[in-house]
Order: sequence, then structure tokens, then C-alpha cells
Amino acid sequence: MSPAHTEGGLRQTRPGSASADNPSELAPLSSTLADNPPESTELGFYVHVPFCAKRCGYCSFNTAPLEDGTMARYLEALHREIDLLGGIAWSSRVRLSTIFFGGGTPSLLAAEELGAVLARIRARFDVAADAEVTVECNPESVTRDKLAGYRAAGVNRLSLGVQSLDDSILPRLGRLHDARGARVAFEAARAAGCDNLSVDLMYGLPGLDPDGWTRAVEAVLDWEPDHLSAYGLTLDAGSLWGAAGVEGLPTEDTQIDQYWRLARAAAARGLEHYEISNYARPGRRSRHNQIYWRAAEYLAAGPGACGFVGRLRYANVKATPRYCETLAGGELPIASSEHLSKGQRLAERLILGLRTADGIPAALLETRLGGDARLRDLVERWRARALLVDVDDRVRLSEAGFLLSDALFVELL
Ligand code: SF4
Repeated sequence: MSPAHTEGGLRQTRPGSASADNPSELAPLSSTLADNPPESTELGFYVHVPFCAKRCGYCSFNTAPLEDGTMARYLEALHREIDLLGGIAWSSRVRLSTIFFGGGTPSLLAAEELGAVLARIRARFDVAADAEVTVECNPESVTRDKLAGYRAAGVNRLSLGVQSLDDSILPRLGRLHDARGARVAFEAARAAGCDNLSVDLMYGLPGLDPDGWTRAVEAVLDWEPDHLSAYGLTLDAGSLWGAAGVEGLPTEDTQIDQYWRLARAAAARGLEHYEISNYARPGRRSRHNQIYWRAAEYLAAGPGACGFVGRLRYANVKATPRYCETLAGGELPIASSEHLSKGQRLAERLILGLRTADGIPAALLETRLGGDARLRDLVERWRARALLVDVDDRVRLSEAGFLLSDALFVELL
């Protein structure tokens, strides 16, 4: 779900979520969560629900087919994992400020199933009274009643995976809804009382011309969502399209044009472009995703989910059957972990922070530049071109800088 082109920092980043190839990039397990208490007393909590009714062509997330009995086995394992995480000595000293159900397709969960998971988390952790609780939903798997049940269980934010409003493109993507179904799902969410509602769109799609993109953006903005995420397509290795290729991709210039059309349309409707691929009404930024972009700490549960606590980044086993077996044996299903060095943490703070409109403290960038004359020269050239902008004691990328950010991020690593 990110652009095929190298120049955009427009890739989808959802660090807690389970990409098909994330865990294998990590070093072998060398430490455990119990030995690595968090530095903060506030954590996010990502829950990966792997099941999808059908695999989309562009998708590289860790998904699993929904077969007889698989959801029940997964939920049993997830409850055990929550118990084990909650049993870690330091867990009683932290508060969860956000909970995010991502996937996969979390909206395949019945309201009672989702409510039971949330109740288990609340039984094992101190969850802030104002915690943001988000569920990713696909239009074909929600009804007003189900979403009202989610809300009654404590869900206060929904993220609706619309991706496109073109009925000739949606089936090519492998999506199971049409444009009308997306609209119906949005209205069902509002009718169920959701006042913090996000819509996901994708650009750079095969067969998507600039005017078609503008029509989709304007149509979604007419719905008045509280938040909009829009990612450019990339063909990641773990996707069906990445393996087999796909016809009809727009040119790089067309993708860039689509980025600017969105940025202008969102600004005209009063949405803040607060992260490279994310827009929000005032007060409606995603609190959970901001934990990622601030390189802050979060627990993760579910097959292939990745967490970051203390200096430890860890990843669960990806395969859902093995995930369930490991937990049935009473073990946390951590497949790999690594301790981030001071330099790695600095680079992460810079790169993730520069994805946002808030940017980073200028002093942090100065620490990275140190005596590196070549990098300092590059940064000064970015400043001269207004790609990097100084605001008080912070540095941020401009919207044009967002587009070119990968080039800078490579240098900052
Ligand atoms: S519904 Fe989402 S997670 Fe599932 S295959 Fe499609 S893009 Fe991937």
C-alpha cells in the first residue's frame, strides 16, 4: 500500500502491524519483554487480527484465510497472550493510552468477540479513561448494529478501508465492496454514533487517472470524515502484485500529481496535513499512530505483530497456527527481537518525526549532523529549497519536502 516509486516518503508505515516480511529482518531473539521495562508509563497497544475474506492484490500485510474454527482458536490464543503480557511485573506500572485493532480485517470480529478482547485487556492493564480505541473496518463486513456493538464495547474511533470509489478499479484490487457499499458503511458508522471516523484511500492505482482520483477525493471529502489517510501504491515483495506484476500503473508524474490534488483538496476543506499520508480535522489526529511517529513505546499482540518497549523491538511469529500453538504451550509468541542502539534510536526519531507536520527538535537534528560536513551541506540545501523549514526550535518538512523525503531519510540513517 505504498508507492512504487522511490522518491516519495509516502509509504504506509504502521510499525505495530504485521507486514509479511518484517519479522525476518530482525535479529534472533536475544532478550525478553520481562527484562526490558518501558521508559514511559504510557503505552499504546496494537492488536493484529490476521483474517481476511480475500487477499487484495497489493497487500503485503500478514494475513490468514478465515476458515472454520480459525477465529475461535485465534481468539483463545489472543486472550492467553493478553494474560501473559499483563502478567509481566512492569505491566502493573503502565497505563494504555491507545488500543488499535489492525489487520487483516478486524471488522470480521463480532461485537461480542471484540468486546471480550477489550474486556480482557482492561482486566489485565490499566486503560486510560480517555484511551483512543480504534478498529480498522472493511465496508463489506460492517453493519450499523455491529458498529453500535463496537461502540458499546468502548471503541471510539473507526478507520474505514475504502481505497477507491471506482467500481471498475475496486474488483481489480481484490476488494469485496463497491462504491455504494463504502458510502453505506460510512453512513452506518455515523448512525452508530461514531464521531471519530477515518477513511483510507489509495492513489497510484492501475487504471486511476487524475480526474478519477479528484472525483474520489472530493466525494469522500463530501462525506466529511474526521480523518483521511491516503497512501500511494507500491508493489511490495510480499504482495501478489509484487510477485506477478500488474498492468496499467500510472506514471511517476501522475502519482505526484495525485498527491498534490489530494493535498490541495484536503486543505480546502480544512483538514490538516499532519503526516505525509494523513490528514485530520482539528483534534482528530490519530493518537495511536502518533505514538509510532514519535518513536514512543507500544505493546503488540497477534500473529506477526511488532512492538517496541524500552529499547527492545520485537516481532511475534507470523503464522497463525504456530502463534496459537505457542500460546497454548504457555509461551509468549515472540519470534525475534533486537535492542536498538543509541544511533538507531536517534535515526528513528528523526525519520519518523520528519514524517509529521510537527517535525523534530532542531537540537536533535544538530546531534545527528555533528561533524558530518556532507550531511550538513545536504540539509542546508534542503533548507535553501524550502523543503526543510525551521519553525521556532523545530525543523519540519514542507509538503514538497514530504514528497522527496525518502532521499533525506536514507542519508539520516
Ligand atoms: S483487506 Fe486489508 S489486510 Fe486484508 S488483504 Fe486486503 S489490504 Fe490486506
